[in-house]
Amino acid sequence: MKNYDVMVAGCGPAGICAAIQAGRMGAKTLLVEKNGIAGGTITAAGIAVPGLFDAFGEQLISGIGWELVAETLRAEGRELPDFSREMVDALWRYQVDINPFIFACIAEKALLECGVEIAYHTMLGKVVEFSDMWQVTLCAKDGLYDIAAAMLIDCTGDGNLTKLAGYQVMADTVCQPGSANVVLDGIDYEKIDRKALAAAFIQAEKAGMIHYKDLGWFRHLVEKGSFLFLERGGTNGNHIGFINAADSPQKSAMECAAHASVLRAYKFLKQQKGLEKISIRSFAPECGVRESRRICGEYIMTKEDYLSGRSFDDALCYSFYYVDIHDMEKGLILEDITPGTRPQVPRRIMIPQGASKLMAAGRIVSSDRPANSCLRIQASCMATGQAAGANVVCALRNHCPVADAPLDEVRAVLRQHGAIVPENQER
Ligand SMILES: Cc1cc2nc3c(=O)[nH]c(=O)nc-3n(C[C@H](O)[C@H](O)[C@H](O)COP(=O)(O)OP(=O)(O)OC[C@H]3O[C@@H](n4cnc5c(N)ncnc54)[C@H](O)[C@@H]3O)c2cc1C
Repeated sequence: MKNYDVMVAGCGPAGICAAIQAGRMGAKTLLVEKNGIAGGTITAAGIAVPGLFDAFGEQLISGIGWELVAETLRAEGRELPDFSREMVDALWRYQVDINPFIFACIAEKALLECGVEIAYHTMLGKVVEFSDMWQVTLCAKDGLYDIAAAMLIDCTGDGNLTKLAGYQVMADTVCQPGSANVVLDGIDYEKIDRKALAAAFIQAEKAGMIHYKDLGWFRHLVEKGSFLFLERGGTNGNHIGFINAADSPQKSAMECAAHASVLRAYKFLKQQKGLEKISIRSFAPECGVRESRRICGEYIMTKEDYLSGRSFDDALCYSFYYVDIHDMEKGLILEDITPGTRPQVPRRIMIPQGASKLMAAGRIVSSDRPANSCLRIQASCMATGQAAGANVVCALRNHCPVADAPLDEVRAVLRQHGAIVPENQER
């Protein structure tokens, strides 16, 4: 049985940064990923707009995540954003648009360069905890095999590792819808007759051939011919709801619902004037999941903590976004963040309650729904990933539980590795 210091599950924005941080600290690190490419939602679901690294003229998140995004932009021959910029528009407009494939290649290269062993096409099977180590059964193409690891980090986006390890996870009864992303081609926007499109939609919906969620958010807007799916060229414009895609059966249900939705939209649009040449140039292999499970951590971060920029004595990084909940019935539930607020992320929301050798990072950190809608954003996931990576290795070095890793040491390591750490009183 192979032995590792750290095993990270999930190679999305959080897992990439967690594994690189652990690898750069010299820890023998295994990164397990069910897909065949790095990136998580960035590549699998085609959402390649990491946000937000800055807040009203100041960079709040740097470190490994920003290093990879900046390298991607340079490879694409593009300018880096000027973080002294004024933010006068909706905040989502300041996210960084990157090429997902280039990002994945750059992330993979960085992982390999610091000695991280990548196990693609591999899923978690069974997790058994012993007093000083974990035994994890992994499922590879040729069957099951066991590994041992001293520390685990759950970056699965769905809390799968935490649940398998026997720690508590939480889920709301109804979670935010997913979106199935494609890239549409051949649209002649000039030729679209909005009135005719709206009339055709009303008829097709009555006949059960289309649903307004296939094309946008609100029936009243779709009935006026405003189709988000069309306007955004197929990205982030449909809503696949009422499925909590945390496990394989529910993920399968979501994929099937997503495929059916895109097929309905495609067939409907292709029959309309000006859209006869519409085609699907490319598609994201997975339906994007906004929300599924979160860990029940040592603390549950609230919206009030987040929006007030509460100072935590165990803060390890910042996050920055506004409350942005996609609700199937009410549409977007938004709440602004006051300029000047710097939301801090405490270590205790990355530790499953009672765990000593397990941390979690990314969109599953312990938080209420509104706070989670801010924390789930990619730059924040990268920051929590890096923080968890540094914390578990410091815990290993000090032979202590993850909650007792000396904060001054963890913070010093994070700063050495380029991260921005809140300047709270060190404990
Ligand atoms: C439609 C949509 C739009 C969004 N828009 C934006 C946006 O504009 N800007 C922004 O910053 N964020 C956006 N987000 C949010 C953001 O993309 C996610 O919250 C973020 O990617 C979560 O990162 P993560 O690393 O926690 O998880 P993920 O990105 O989900 O990565 C998890 C990884 O773990 C792997 N995995 C899962 N389970 C297992 C297992 N059992 N074994 C092995 N591997 C496993 C997965 O294959 C995946 O690679 C959006 C999300 C969606 C769905």
